[in-house]
Amino acid sequence: MISKTLHLFNSLGRELREFTPIDPDHVRVYSCGPTVYNYAHIGNLRAYVFVDVLRRTLAWKGYDVTHVINITDVGHLTSDADEGDDKMEAAATRDQKSVWDIAAHYTLAFKNDLQRLNILPPSLWSKATDHIQEMIAFAKVLERNGTTYMLEDGLYFDSSKVPEYGRLGLLNIEGQEAGKRVAYGGKKNLSDFAVWRKSPTNVKRLMEWQSPWGTGAPGWHLECSVMAAKYLGKTFDIHTGGIDHRSVHHCNEIAQNQGYSQCSHPGANWWMHNEFLVLRAESGDEKMSKSSGNFLTLQSLVDRGIHPLVYRLFLLGASYRSSIEFSWEALAGTRAHLRRMLLRIARIKENADNETLQLAKAVTHDAHFQSGGPFTFLIERLMNEATEEERNYILAVDQALSNDLHTPEVLVIMGKILDDPDLTPQAVIRLVALVDLVLGTKLLDTDPDALSVRPLSASISEEAIIQKIAERTEARALRDFSRADQIRGELLAAGVEIKDTTERTDWEWRVTPHES
Ligand code: AMP
Ligand code: ZN
Repeated sequence: MISKTLHLFNSLGRELREFTPIDPDHVRVYSCGPTVYNYAHIGNLRAYVFVDVLRRTLAWKGYDVTHVINITDVGHLTSDADEGDDKMEAAATRDQKSVWDIAAHYTLAFKNDLQRLNILPPSLWSKATDHIQEMIAFAKVLERNGTTYMLEDGLYFDSSKVPEYGRLGLLNIEGQEAGKRVAYGGKKNLSDFAVWRKSPTNVKRLMEWQSPWGTGAPGWHLECSVMAAKYLGKTFDIHTGGIDHRSVHHCNEIAQNQGYSQCSHPGANWWMHNEFLVLRAESGDEKMSKSSGNFLTLQSLVDRGIHPLVYRLFLLGASYRSSIEFSWEALAGTRAHLRRMLLRIARIKENADNETLQLAKAVTHDAHFQSGGPFTFLIERLMNEATEEERNYILAVDQALSNDLHTPEVLVIMGKILDDPDLTPQAVIRLVALVDLVLGTKLLDTDPDALSVRPLSASISEEAIIQKIAERTEARALRDFSRADQIRGELLAAGVEIKDTTERTDWEWRVTPHES
């Protein structure tokens, strides 16, 4: 039996703590979702691969999980500092569509990206615009509780009214002085934020609603407090998001939760944050930013020959708490790693018995994540059939996961399993099935050749490649090595890499960082 012991890093208090859910068998998780005014970039997607591993680990531990992701389809401002244009409205102008069409289009694209990355869909998607009245009701309570004040442009939260504002972000707010309202743009404290934003007079916004504070739209932190409490309760287990949310958005969510409930409980017991995926620019690290337009999407990786599961594996190669530097070379390396694993598994499958293959298939089927029950049953069944050696592998994986979801270690163990000459083919298949439940890399269902994705820029057909390789084989047989090298060079120029094995010549598309 897999133990329930699990240590997760809590940003609140900055400590690795043993995880104990409120309900002994059921964990409730809320993840801040995307703002749907553009495609998600591959940095955004890291936040959901991280929470997917968290969810799968909780299921591995035998918990049922209720997971909510919100869709932010209300326009926030283009800057975190309460200024700039409305992002949804700016996108509507840019794409010449209605704000509602913009939201629908990018929501669909986002869900499609998650599916391509084999990320389990949440138990519930909750859309901000479906909850405007509830946000107004929540803000009324904040007002009644004396935690807000009115300014010309809307209703503001008074961050001095809650205990330890900014504890999550370790914000140093000592420099703030009451009475400096001019410097703070009229706000009482620098860290005060809008709960309701009034539309400017004489301006008709594309998205606006009536409220006791004037026609306008909710401030960008309100929706998460409201939807998390509605679907998961006023206190729930885990709240996730990217590291940027630790110092603003989540501090403000906590303040609102405290202002609403009039107690010091932050809402969620665990606040977990993934580090960023960074692009190295000549000037140093640069974060990817949707609003600056400087970003790569999952589709742009696919267009350059990277299969989505390669990107998933690339992310799992680091702890979610380390920042990862993006590079095409590293992705090409990960693709080679995944291909090696898949080829090895394909060979092992040929020697495994049918019953094991069937059982493994049943285990990897996503439906078993809907509830902890059958998942636990299957783990137990596999554990019961396991030899001591297999059990040791499972325990090692469990230990790595229990140490704050340490997936790099799980990948090392997977490598050992695939290379262990003492394991039977049945044992390897059982172990791969089980461990891949958490990794979610579809190791048993992916054809190694499927990893080689045709880049958009490819200028040669698959038939022509095969013909060239045949020509080269013939040239080699005639010991015409200069012709053979020439063909290799031609293929390389067309974006194709070839590799000679003892039996045959394999080929794959080269990862092409730049369209040629
Ligand atoms: P957004 O759509 O901007 O609200 O972001 C969606 C999620 O992606 C949030 O949890 C962000 O914190 C997270 N995020 C944004 N940029 C990055 C990045 N470069 N690396 C990892 N996570 C990110
Ligand atoms: Zn949020």
